[in-house]
Amino acid sequence: MSPEHVAKIALDYADLNKDNMYREPRENATSWHAYELCRACGSCILIGKRSKYCPGKLDLDKITLLDDGTWGPARNIVSFTGGDLACNPEWYAQSAQEIKSLGRDLWVLFETNGYGLISETLDLFKDAGIDSFWLDIKAYDEKVHRKLTGVSNKRILELPAEIVERDFVLEVLSLYIPGWVESDQIEKIAEIIAQVDPKIPFTILAFFPEHKLIHVPSPSFKQMLNAYYAAKDAGLKRIKLGNIGIFAKKEEDYETLRSLGLL
Ligand code: SF4
Repeated sequence: MSPEHVAKIALDYADLNKDNMYREPRENATSWHAYELCRACGSCILIGKRSKYCPGKLDLDKITLLDDGTWGPARNIVSFTGGDLACNPEWYAQSAQEIKSLGRDLWVLFETNGYGLISETLDLFKDAGIDSFWLDIKAYDEKVHRKLTGVSNKRILELPAEIVERDFVLEVLSLYIPGWVESDQIEKIAEIIAQVDPKIPFTILAFFPEHKLIHVPSPSFKQMLNAYYAAKDAGLKRIKLGNIGIFAKKEEDYETLRSLGLL
């Protein structure tokens, strides 16, 4: 796709949802804040009744069938996600410029593992109008990071400070992988984020076995809960657990999550 092609998709999205677009302030241009509005269960539309976990923050005319097949609000955010091509920063910069030139007040969110975000690229993205980053920090332990990705995480651990310094919006994600990335590392990552700003949203995602890690189990409910407390103890104020269906199996698990404000 060319940057013009990407902008055309953004324009079609803005036109399609012009009457029911949910306008987020720039500081909410994150995936984390979408979850605050709606859990994407579709219950209010499909059976005409809100689920008991519904945050109840949106009128029903704001709920629409999104192009990934889930129900939720069409927010004024265009996200680059599902793959990281930050080795070609010019493409993202031109795409962001094209999106901004549409004049539709769309925020631009970029999901990344951070490896391509050298200082020059951050400056380029800032000038191009990219608003926010969803930074996937894969591990705190450098050896584990190398094993998972093939590269050092030294630069990546410096990124939260550098990103916020440039007035981008930031959210961080880490995957709980039993035996690889557990509560001790989650806590260290959370400490780095909290030192920059305790209000930076942090999502701890539950791993599920795939590809070369097919033999590694998913985390248990207890492990995920411990990871949540570790991040909280590190000082973070906005923490969510993701891939809940992987580790919450019983009704009481859901009740515990609800009592902690995690549902
Ligand atoms: S608003 Fe969202 S969370 Fe609430 S019932 Fe509808 S789809 Fe589910």
